[in-house]
Amino acid sequence: MDNPVVIVGSGLAGYAAARELRKLNAEIPITMLSADHGGFYSKPMLSNALSLGKTPASILNSDAAQMASQLKISIRPYCRVTAIDQSENAVTLIDGEKIFYDQLVLAVGADQIRLPLQGDGVAKILTVNDLDDYQNFREALIGKKRISIIGAGLIGCEFANDLVTSGYQVDVIDISAQPLGRLLPPASGAFMQQKLEAVGVVFHLDTTIQAVDQVEDRLRLTLANGESIDSDLVLSSVGLRSRTQLAEAAGIQINRGIVVNRLLQTRFANIYALGDCAEVESKVLPFVMPITHAARALAATLAGNPTSVHYPAMPIMVKTPACPTVVSPPDFNVQGEWHVEVDTDGVKALYRDEVGNLLGYALLGAATKEKNNLTTQLPAVLV
Ligand SMILES: Cc1cc2nc3c(=O)[nH]c(=O)nc-3n(C[C@H](O)[C@H](O)[C@H](O)COP(=O)(O)OP(=O)(O)OC[C@H]3O[C@@H](n4cnc5c(N)ncnc54)[C@H](O)[C@@H]3O)c2cc1C
Repeated sequence: MDNPVVIVGSGLAGYAAARELRKLNAEIPITMLSADHGGFYSKPMLSNALSLGKTPASILNSDAAQMASQLKISIRPYCRVTAIDQSENAVTLIDGEKIFYDQLVLAVGADQIRLPLQGDGVAKILTVNDLDDYQNFREALIGKKRISIIGAGLIGCEFANDLVTSGYQVDVIDISAQPLGRLLPPASGAFMQQKLEAVGVVFHLDTTIQAVDQVEDRLRLTLANGESIDSDLVLSSVGLRSRTQLAEAAGIQINRGIVVNRLLQTRFANIYALGDCAEVESKVLPFVMPITHAARALAATLAGNPTSVHYPAMPIMVKTPACPTVVSPPDFNVQGEWHVEVDTDGVKALYRDEVGNLLGYALLGAATKEKNNLTTQLPAVLV
């Protein structure tokens, strides 16, 4: 092969693909192009770093130069890809330079969704989706006391726990009637709410934000339920949207993510996608474990041994120390119901079909000790 495997993106997906491919083939040239600094870090750490005393600098495991020498690849930081020309097997960089590839891997991640809110304070709402965002967030926190979080999902609850443990006053606002509304049945959501309230988090649920306005040096959130909250800083974490624009402009099929088959291949045989940007069999799974499995399969394929991705059951640990939680949500197209056992120190919620097969679970508090045993009973996410 004349040209390298080009990986676009230096997040966990890009690095997992590079690392796995290097394990299988020491010679194949690999070029990583990244819109950011290109260093390696664990993104999940960002939502519990504050209380663990981790700084942005200590979260960065290795910078781009160190990673390049460790993996024997070429890394080009601050090098945004603006177009893919599949007929020429080339990508174009922001400065017009063309990089040719034999195989192209899109690992471009996802953007935080921004709600279309009213008010002159909206531009000041922060999101944290990468290390640079986290650096800004940490700087913005200096001298601040009261923080509002829009969204009581996984990341919102993790930040709420982290901030409150670190001495901030925290308000969390969500349209749902409970935290983790998409992952937990109501009794489990109520338990999580209680535990987070016990450490000081204040929830404003079942309501929406109408406006965010600048009032002197604070931001005033006006809620649809008539409440208003004056905050020093507002963090939004209402979900992610796969970055599909580059692929779409190149004629690659997109849906909620970049559509790939079980070989992680787009409709162009030498263009692949994995990670938060990819959709495999209608599933966009923005978590670390799917990346690990996808990267192994993709590396084998790139090294000449076409290998389909399989996902086992992949439980998600929610990093809320006030309420240890692990969830394995049922697939969206299966039928069943929750069976919930609540006691004072935990909630065990099992999602079963009509003949009793376990299809998913949500374990909170003391019930988390059943994780390993129950995980063995779960069906694979992709057989
Ligand atoms: C705060 C937080 C906590 C989390 N906690 C957990 C957890 O506990 N457990 C878990 O399983 N998951 C967790 N996740 C999700 C997990 O971190 C992600 O699924 C994973 O990091 C995504 O990796 P990625 O490489 O697909 O995308 P990203 O990390 O977003 O990387 C995308 C890369 O592509 C680059 N890029 C984008 N566009 C271009 C372009 N045009 N040209 C060049 N480069 C480009 C970007 O610069 C970046 O380097 C968390 C996420 C967040 C935000």
